[in-house]
Amino acid sequence: AADFITKPFDLQEVILARVDRIIELSEGRQLISAAEYDKVTGLYNRSFFWEYANRLFTYHKDLHFDAVVLNVEQFHLLNAVSGREFGDLVLRTIADEVRAALSQTVGIASRFEADRINVFCAHREDYAELLAGTQEKLDALSPKVRIHLRMGVMPWQEDMDPVSLLDHAKTACSMVRGNYQRPYMIFSSELRKQELLERRLLTDLHSAIAEGQFVLYYQPKYDVKCDPPRLSSAEALVRWIHPDLGMISPGVFIPLFERNGAIGFLDHFVWKRAAKQIAAWKEKFNFSLPVSINVSRSDLYETDLIDRLKGLVEDNHLDYKELMLEITESSYADNSEEILEEIKTLRKLGFMIEMDDFGAGYSSLNALSTMPVDVLKMDMKFVRNIETSDTDRRFIELIIDIARYLDLKVVAEGVETEGQLNILRKAECDLVQGYYFSRPIPPADFEALIQKEMKIGRN
Ligand code: C2E
Ligand code: CA
Ligand code: CA
Repeated sequence: AADFITKPFDLQEVILARVDRIIELSEGRQLISAAEYDKVTGLYNRSFFWEYANRLFTYHKDLHFDAVVLNVEQFHLLNAVSGREFGDLVLRTIADEVRAALSQTVGIASRFEADRINVFCAHREDYAELLAGTQEKLDALSPKVRIHLRMGVMPWQEDMDPVSLLDHAKTACSMVRGNYQRPYMIFSSELRKQELLERRLLTDLHSAIAEGQFVLYYQPKYDVKCDPPRLSSAEALVRWIHPDLGMISPGVFIPLFERNGAIGFLDHFVWKRAAKQIAAWKEKFNFSLPVSINVSRSDLYETDLIDRLKGLVEDNHLDYKELMLEITESSYADNSEEILEEIKTLRKLGFMIEMDDFGAGYSSLNALSTMPVDVLKMDMKFVRNIETSDTDRRFIELIIDIARYLDLKVVAEGVETEGQLNILRKAECDLVQGYYFSRPIPPADFEALIQKEMKIGRN
């Protein structure tokens, strides 16, 4: 059976058919593109893959073929940071593993787009193991920065053509994007439900904004260098109160909107609300409470971002430092000069820039000194374990040390216990946000925190 890979049947015929078509299309000028293999990985190229897939499905009806899609997380970043050659090596490593797996059975593989590997493989059950094995090889290639591989599988189904099978596998694969704990998904009715939900949320988005279904919650950040800790600022976090589905967490819809390019629309709404809220609290309490808003990676690519943010400050008569911007570390890692310049401009205007989810990957501590940033917001996952993990505690102490050296402030997020707070205070962390002080709460509840702070009378 494995012969199929090395000696595809009717190869001559396929090539001739292909060549005929290309000649027909381009009068012979593109004969070269009839090459059968992708140069980087040695896997089939797109057109040969489909030719053979159709043959497999036609002539091997007895074998049930699953569709499998493999993808590298943030491959463009990997290319940008480690160079194309290394990117190619990563792809080749994956391709070699796929080929080895296929050599035990019947199947074909190809590479489409930059980093998508598509496979049809006689039905098997051990995809999770195959993924784990390939991931191990990648870990060995790059022991310091983890390269995350993800996989989607659509098991064979009666009456489904190869294109649809592969489409479903692709969907399964994209559903685990960014999910490093669970980088693997088999298409199932569960997933179908999730897909339908996602489609519904996308359709509902515009009317939901018009109907006021999105509300902002605020979570306080406390300055823990004072005793008692002082209310210093807040983060605006959006909530969707859906008429049928109830309160939906941003963890569900934000990644979805980010993937589908709808996030800007929602963010503009959130930013506007947050800016108004800052002004309203200033007016009502004569209390300046800076609020940070989340700026998604794709927001940074909008040409009118600076004007928009400037407009919010001016229209609401705010100080620039009262509207803080949270930009994830991973957005910086795009390493686009343009984006860095843009952030620099924002910072020159007076916006405070917080690097969100810091430590989760990407930027080297070295590069920090030249980055436009005022505050480091440490990723929650380090804070979570500081009481039990020496490594995480030391990592956090290291970040705080470096931040102090670079004259940056540090926020610890996700602080839930007194034990965590004490460790952070001892390490001289500046600000703390987390359930220990308060969950994100609606504006009306937040006002109680402001009033309490005003009683202490330090603003
Ligand atoms: P994030 O920016 O890292 O926000 C912090 C998240 O951690 C919030 O989740 C917050 O409720 C949660 N959190 C705060 N303290 C604790 C704690 O002590 N323990 C635990 N376990 N969790 C804590 P939330 O509100 O569900 O938001 C999730 C993510 O959604 C945010 O992560 C942010 O990336 C995104 N997001 C939320 N609102 C917006 C928005 O308006 N625009 C954009 N672009 N993204 C948003
Ligand atoms: Ca944030
Ligand atoms: Ca965060």
